[in-house]
Amino acid sequence: MITKYDLHSHTHYSDGRLTVSELLDRAVERNVDVLAITDHDSVQAISEANRLIDEKQLPLSLVSGVEISTKWHSFEIHVVGLDINIASSALVDLLDSQTQKREARAIEIGNRLAKAGYLDVYSDAKVLAEQGQITRAHFAQVLVNRGVAKNLQGVFNKFLTRGNTGYVPSEWCTIADAVSAIKSSGGIAVLAHPGRYKMSNKWLRKLLDEFSNAGGRAIEVALPQQAPCERQFLGQLCQEYGLLGSQGSDFHYPTPWSDLGKNLYLPKDCQGVWQFWEEKGE
Ligand code: AMP
Ligand code: MN
Ligand code: MN
Ligand code: MN
Repeated sequence: MITKYDLHSHTHYSDGRLTVSELLDRAVERNVDVLAITDHDSVQAISEANRLIDEKQLPLSLVSGVEISTKWHSFEIHVVGLDINIASSALVDLLDSQTQKREARAIEIGNRLAKAGYLDVYSDAKVLAEQGQITRAHFAQVLVNRGVAKNLQGVFNKFLTRGNTGYVPSEWCTIADAVSAIKSSGGIAVLAHPGRYKMSNKWLRKLLDEFSNAGGRAIEVALPQQAPCERQFLGQLCQEYGLLGSQGSDFHYPTPWSDLGKNLYLPKDCQGVWQFWEEKGE
């Protein structure tokens, strides 16, 4: 039997819509064998997930993960850490600092939206975020709920992306900081969704050079919604840079085009990132 891996997913501890329990149940229903939970700058879901898998005897292996926002030139690059130790002090310290940056940015987004006439968006976004990490997706949801735009995409396009009223650039940590914290926690650093940064291939290659020089070992090659030529191309880049390939749905909530475990496979000749923990004998 082929093992079904989904190594990128979110819970309501960041901008995912499902609770940890709902996410795990859905993964099992969709025949995922190995699931990584990779919330934005948070590992809050991990111990709860391990406890639930144990209690409910779910036929699912959990990979402890995180998705760290980094700043690289004018880009926000996401670095996924897999097979991390969530108690590692270097990682905990980095995530604390990222949490403070998220909070400061969220307040500033709220101020800017208030100046544009949209009051109290920050406090409403905090209510939606509950105890988890606050993200732009929470602001977008508040404005959709108020009827300002039809959907999240509409709010992002109008308010939350570069050049718009509510866009606040954040001084996230560097790629090297993220990779180093992931490595010192025993994990492997994976460059998330390389096709989504709207950069030329020249910049992408520069990114891969720096990412691998910093100790990054893998890139996400397969996502559910992707042209087959992109998957092939990313597979070739793995060969060229000596990187492993990862696959993940980046699940936030089910949509007709994306879901847990959907359409995930690596091109032939691309080595799976799971080799990393399988070699450790876990
Ligand atoms: P943040 O990490 O707080 O900057 O929030 C980024 C998150 O917002 C991403 O992880 C996506 O889940 C979501 N997001 C980013 N761009 C869009 C978009 N154009 N439409 C809908 N959601 C988006
Ligand atoms: Mn997200
Ligand atoms: Mn991401
Ligand atoms: Mn993600």
